[in-house]
Amino acid sequence: MVYHIDEILRDEYIDKKVTIRGWIYRKRRVGKLIFVVVRDSTNIVQCVVEKNNVNPDNFKLLDKVGVETSIIVEGYLRKDERAPTGYEIQADRIEIVGPSYNFPITKDKSDEFLLDNRHLWVRSREMTAILKIRDTVFGALHEFFREKGYYETHGPMFVTGAVEGGSTLFEVPYFGKKAYLTQSSQFYLETLIYSLEKVYTVAPSFRAEKSRTRRHLTEYWHAEAEAAWYHNEDMMRDEEEMVVYLIQRVLEERKRELQFLKRDLEILEGIEKPFKRMRYEELIRFAQDHSVNIQYGDDLGADEETMITQNFDAPVFITHYPIEIKPFYHRPDPENPKVVLCHDLLAPEGYGEIIGGGERIYKLEVLLQRMEDEGLNPEDYYWYVDLRKYGSVPHTGFGLGMERFIWWIAGLSHIKYAIPYPRTIRRTKP
Ligand code: ATP
Ligand code: MG
Repeated sequence: MVYHIDEILRDEYIDKKVTIRGWIYRKRRVGKLIFVVVRDSTNIVQCVVEKNNVNPDNFKLLDKVGVETSIIVEGYLRKDERAPTGYEIQADRIEIVGPSYNFPITKDKSDEFLLDNRHLWVRSREMTAILKIRDTVFGALHEFFREKGYYETHGPMFVTGAVEGGSTLFEVPYFGKKAYLTQSSQFYLETLIYSLEKVYTVAPSFRAEKSRTRRHLTEYWHAEAEAAWYHNEDMMRDEEEMVVYLIQRVLEERKRELQFLKRDLEILEGIEKPFKRMRYEELIRFAQDHSVNIQYGDDLGADEETMITQNFDAPVFITHYPIEIKPFYHRPDPENPKVVLCHDLLAPEGYGEIIGGGERIYKLEVLLQRMEDEGLNPEDYYWYVDLRKYGSVPHTGFGLGMERFIWWIAGLSHIKYAIPYPRTIRRTKP
């Protein structure tokens, strides 16, 4: 019977006949024996192939081929403390399916080389671990929203207006006209709360990020939600529940992968709701007390976020930012209109912002005033303005960068490791 490697690494299979399929991870010849470590999507196992036990042509071919050759091995499982995963298959039949010679990725290749060969590097055990964590995070996110009564929906990717400001828009030719790739699905989600009330989407967002940081991609997966009748605090509660849920699911399902990546689990295990809330002005004082060079009114850059959050051991919500440093749609605080009712969630350990969210302006006059202040033409946003004319309601939303989250949870050094094919200012291949 054909098994996945991880299924058979247990005592009940000892001396049983098993077949596995996978790729050669390591290979070593010792006299009449060839030791092959085979990997599949689940784990690795050592196989020992003795010359006289298998077809001679197959033995010769096995001796020649290199790592990443695909292979089928049939044999008896034995316990072996010296083998990398504690068991060994004593082969009596092998079949080389797709040979591989001179696999380009060897030890100590540069980061640039690995990125150019990402199509091959995705096979590494490290990338495999990250991709599994990513799978769990995406699955758990859908579970969370559905459980919470949010409907899944989708906005378009070709758009004509900016959500986050013009400087990071990608322009694309569109049948003799201009269109842009969307920076966020927020405005479309806002239209959909009038039919579904609570909506979410998981979709790409595109941003022409010109600065090189460890936290910006030009194409990233964005989980966004919007809910009618929600105020800032209501949404922060859903978000902290979501973050704790996602972490729990990853700890349940992917502990082995986290350990493989040498992630410090203690910090993740200690994360509980409610998260601390800090006003922007408090954060600025906190930053100044920790020798970060920042003044009231400054936006947090990547470096400041790193320095500030190195002092955190759990996520912190930052609220009440000055109105000038947030996009026009944020609702001014009725108690102090110089600040807006927003929230960014900063991940600890130097990771920084993973969520941006807040209450949206729902009164027509206020929205038109804010657009005028920012020099925006309401006609360009006619449909967004319409929402405030026909039965407007208070509402709040947020956006979570999926790669930012995975970057933090997996304890990665750069966001580009959190996605199979990263797109950055310098990279659109493979
Ligand atoms: P930053 O200040 O880090 O550039 P932002 O304020 O532009 O973030 P938002 O517009 O609030 O971000 O977007 C919502 C979320 O999307 C962010 O909290 C972050 O998790 C994620 N995000 C934003 N830009 C990027 C990017 N270039 N690459 C990956 N994720 C991003
Ligand atoms: Mg940005």
